[in-house]
Amino acid sequence: MNPVAIVTGAADGIGRAIALRLAADGYIPLAVDMQPFTPSRDIHAIRLDIAATEAPEAICSAAEALGPVAALVNNAGIGGARAVAESDDPGWQRILDVNLTAAMRISRAVLPGMIARGQGAIVHLASVFGQVGYRNNAAYAASKAGIEGLTRQMAADYGRRGIRTNAVAPGLIETAMTARFLHDPDYRRIMQDGTPTPGPGQPEDVAGAVSFLLSADARFVNGTVLNVDGGWQATRINWPMDSKD
Ligand code: NAD
Repeated sequence: MNPVAIVTGAADGIGRAIALRLAADGYIPLAVDMQPFTPSRDIHAIRLDIAATEAPEAICSAAEALGPVAALVNNAGIGGARAVAESDDPGWQRILDVNLTAAMRISRAVLPGMIARGQGAIVHLASVFGQVGYRNNAAYAASKAGIEGLTRQMAADYGRRGIRTNAVAPGLIETAMTARFLHDPDYRRIMQDGTPTPGPGQPEDVAGAVSFLLSADARFVNGTVLNVDGGWQATRINWPMDSKD
């Protein structure tokens, strides 16, 4: 029986590319999203808000009905954050609920099955904006920095039980989430021109990294954060693209 992989936020963008890649890798993907998943062969879908109280159990039951859950990709995330002085409690809470707390709650629902089988792999979606400060982005930055801490914590707690937990931190990836920012000259200069590898990155670039981290090739990779950012974070002097130096 093929192993099951849960992918949240899989109707669009990076999550959809991950679900398609994992199907090609031989998993049975369960695509989880608030939006309908455009039908695709071999991919099952469940439509819900991952931050809802009952979501983790619903996701877990739907996945286990397909077979043993070998992989979980906590990909769904939202932006829309503001600076602290402009942050209201409901807006802050929603971003933390979707980006961080749901990842913990879905992991908590899936872990008992993985522990019972003595194997499993989990990948969380972090962000370069959880690693460096950017303007007007407080709740998002806090949620993604939290994801990195959660990744290390889960590696410590479950590594000895055969479960690896890692994170992928994308830089600029061309999706609906970033489309509107690309019209902002400052964002383009900092993110697009400041990335040494020609970009923007594509959802498939992130899907490839997730595929590796879930695979047996990553058997000894645990608790790490893999940046998929074209070298943006490693070279943050931000040379302009036309620099001759
Ligand atoms: P996207 O907005 O294009 O797609 C996100 C998907 O998640 C959508 O299908 C949406 O419906 C779904 N979703 C959002 N909230 C949900 C909820 N509460 N319940 C169920 N589904 C929900 O985003 P993306 O660019 O593909 O980003 C995917 C992940 O990668 C996010 O965690 C994001 O923070 C992270 N990331 C993206 C970039 C980038 O440049 N695109 C950079 C760094 C990190």
